[in-house]
Amino acid sequence: MPKILLIATKNKGKIIEIEDVLKDIPVKTKSLEQFKDISDVVEDGEDFYENAVKKARHYMKATGHWTMADDSGLEVDALGGRPGVHSARYAGEDGNSQKNIEKLLDELKGVPQERRTARFKCVIALCGPEGEIFTFDGVCEGRMLETPQGESGFGYDPVFYYEPFGKTFAQIPLEDKNRISHRGMALGKLREFLLSVIS
Ligand code: IMP
Repeated sequence: MPKILLIATKNKGKIIEIEDVLKDIPVKTKSLEQFKDISDVVEDGEDFYENAVKKARHYMKATGHWTMADDSGLEVDALGGRPGVHSARYAGEDGNSQKNIEKLLDELKGVPQERRTARFKCVIALCGPEGEIFTFDGVCEGRMLETPQGESGFGYDPVFYYEPFGKTFAQIPLEDKNRISHRGMALGKLREFLLSVIS
């Protein structure tokens, strides 16, 4: 059972969500904020699974700690599944969330509501010190709005409308997002796994 768990991301939005779900598990979490000298991974996998495993392996080898890595993104049906694995850098290397959203909304101009279906996907890979790999996944269905709404969350949250709540992901509190989101679902599975190996 890991005493220390490295959360292999620099994305503050992800760190906040992950730490919230794991807060009552008796394991000390660290993030890449505490390991700034380690080289980045080239995320060139074909899918979320490949990238998550690649990241978890890379940072476990660099630190020796049990490591979890999340790879996630948005698939928009009207765009043939884009941005997919390119979600983080959709508007280019110098882009940011606002530019990613602008590019996406531009490409979706004129697409009617009923064809704006999309989903967030998440794969979490956990890598142990012997190189053992465990994976956990989650999906959340929604629809792309035409204009951003809400201030919380990160990434594409302001344009991802979640029908059952009648709100975007950026309009719901973190705890609610974690109950229903792709990452919340994958984290729930990781949580169960960690609890089962503790007991
Ligand atoms: P990566 O997994 O670090 O390659 O990046 C995933 C990217 O997908 C993020 O930078 C966001 O743009 C997007 N993304 C993943 N999960 C979420 C989410 O929960 N809300 C909004 N955007 C997300």
